[in-house]
Amino acid sequence: MHVPASNELWTKVQQLLQKNLSKPSYETWIRPAEFFDFKDGCLTLVAPNSFSSDWLRKNYSHTIEEIASEIYGHEVKVYIKVKEEFRSNKNSTNKTFSNVENKALGPRENSGFLSKQASTKKNLPGLNLRYVFNRFVVGPNSRMAHAAAMAVAEAPGREFNPLFICGGVGLGKTHLMQSIGHYRLEIDPDAKVAYVSTETFTNDLIVAIRKDGMQAFRNRYREADLILVDDIQFIEGKEYTQEEFFHTFNALHEAGRQIVLTSDRPPSQIPRLQERLISRFSMGLIADIQAPDLETRMAILQKKAEHERMRLPRDLIQFIAGRFTSNIRELEGAFTRAVAFASITGLPMTVESVAPMLDPTGQGVEVKPKQVLEKVAEVFGVTEEEMRSSSRRRPVSQARQVGMYLMRHGTDLSLPRIGESFGGKDHTTVMYAIEQVEKKLSSEPQLASQVQKVKDLLQIDSRKRR
Ligand code: ADP
Ligand code: MG
Repeated sequence: MHVPASNELWTKVQQLLQKNLSKPSYETWIRPAEFFDFKDGCLTLVAPNSFSSDWLRKNYSHTIEEIASEIYGHEVKVYIKVKEEFRSNKNSTNKTFSNVENKALGPRENSGFLSKQASTKKNLPGLNLRYVFNRFVVGPNSRMAHAAAMAVAEAPGREFNPLFICGGVGLGKTHLMQSIGHYRLEIDPDAKVAYVSTETFTNDLIVAIRKDGMQAFRNRYREADLILVDDIQFIEGKEYTQEEFFHTFNALHEAGRQIVLTSDRPPSQIPRLQERLISRFSMGLIADIQAPDLETRMAILQKKAEHERMRLPRDLIQFIAGRFTSNIRELEGAFTRAVAFASITGLPMTVESVAPMLDPTGQGVEVKPKQVLEKVAEVFGVTEEEMRSSSRRRPVSQARQVGMYLMRHGTDLSLPRIGESFGGKDHTTVMYAIEQVEKKLSSEPQLASQVQKVKDLLQIDSRKRR
């Protein structure tokens, strides 16, 4: 038995973090962490599950320690435990559950529904055979989403329901989502897995209405054990589809079936989405995928080369990975072009021979940290020196935060390296800064336009498009 101590400290830390973190970050990680005890300068928290505890440890424990120490007046160490009940039962009774269900449901013929029983691995309709977990390279940008996807595939309907995966175009959302389907079918070949794009869902609905086949439509969608709905942001503004989806969602959720959704943005930022759907979509876990760093991009190319049984020199991999920073589909495209180019021209696969084709202007497309400092200083009317200093003057700290934000998005620097560029700031400070800017961008148009101006000067977006 631990001696119950005041949990006021944790409440205060939470309050401060709530002000400083984005809402999804706060709601997903900080709020669910419960106070356990505080003694001898050790603050122990309990996370609802092991993913959440890993994530807190990796990304927030330092920040929590800093804030708690400040409030307490002495150094505070943070320990994060996992709630007991989630420790042991990862591979529990779920399989039985879905087997029983399936017997009752019988076979299904719709093409979007997959059951290994009825089809061989080759023709699982809708799922791309390449989109499996072991072809997904996990980096810091996707660790959380990947872990959650695995958890959901192993024990659907349990911890994260729905699992909402969001992230920019070409960052692996569909890949991860389909991996869940493949893996689920591998574990349980009888599982009723449904993969649909939001477009297909909408079209099916329209056809059902026209042909008065609503009952069949409902039966079909509401019988899935695991339903994967891709690009749910396209439901935006479609009132009737939203209505029907709401009921489908509820029926599945109430029956303990697993729902996985992807979107290019979090639920609260999808325009013209009914409030009740926003709240449904947010009630499980929102896991985002960020743009991968250089190392991860190199690992992705390396893996692709292995699969195609190609040997590429490391410097070539680094060269390609350095030029395509924000979209893995484009990164893969560049790789394919390089391979095709070399095979057509008969030139060796080297940086020298491939470079002119990938970067015709001959100018590097990477933004240099120095340029970021320079341009931010220019637009915000401060000096580079001030940005590297520890001045808390508002224009200076604003510029510093924007600089950190743009370095994160325009360069490959890690958080600690970004901190170094600003006179040795801690990586948690950088993380804060980035979250701050992200938060303010939607509510402070003047800041948004200044950030855009720096981006234009640095040509960040147009570089990325190439
Ligand atoms: P999104 O659905 O987010 O637009 P996709 O899932 O279609 O992106 O991914 C685009 C391409 O990039 C696919 O070919 C996918 O296999 C590949 N890809 C994305 N992320 C990864 C990753 N982490 N590891 C390996 N390949 C990836
Ligand atoms: Mg996709």
